[in-house]
Amino acid sequence: MPTAAFLDRDGTLIRDTGYVSDPDDVALLPGAGEAVRLLNAADVPVILVTNQSGIGRGFFGVGAFLLVQARLEELLAADGARIDAVYFCPHAPDEGCECRKPGLELFQRAAAEQGVDLAGAVYAGDRLRDVTAAGVLGGLGVLVARDGASYDAPVPPDVVRVPDLLTGVREILALP
Ligand SMILES: [Zn+2]
Repeated sequence: MPTAAFLDRDGTLIRDTGYVSDPDDVALLPGAGEAVRLLNAADVPVILVTNQSGIGRGFFGVGAFLLVQARLEELLAADGARIDAVYFCPHAPDEGCECRKPGLELFQRAAAEQGVDLAGAVYAGDRLRDVTAAGVLGGLGVLVARDGASYDAPVPPDVVRVPDLLTGVREILALP
């Protein structure tokens, strides 16, 4: 059983409409609620890790991010699912921070604060930058394919590729 599941938000849990900042725009992707509920039922901590450069770019503030988060958690709760912890990078790419994925800082902070063994964790998302931490920290990368997805670098051979998060979670938990 994984020690934790680090899940990306946009394009993994919810529809990626681009810099989502309005709670009314939050829509769970098919199966996302069930995927999180299965992780909850297996006692795998679900930790959201998300790049929110829209904050650093000045598109919206931390308050808007938190309102979107509240709406996401409300939708998950309706599916009997919950997120255990949330970590986000508020910086723009040119700020050179260490927390923007593929940087490792958010994962390391989560590990310290939540007592997670990073080498046993799952790193899931729809972009390579969501999953490459697995190659550095150990653990398993799960790449959730996007429609017509193309990647700017080769997908590491040990990364598991799945059509959606629910499929990935079923594989991780060895469920039929
Ligand atoms: Zn950052």
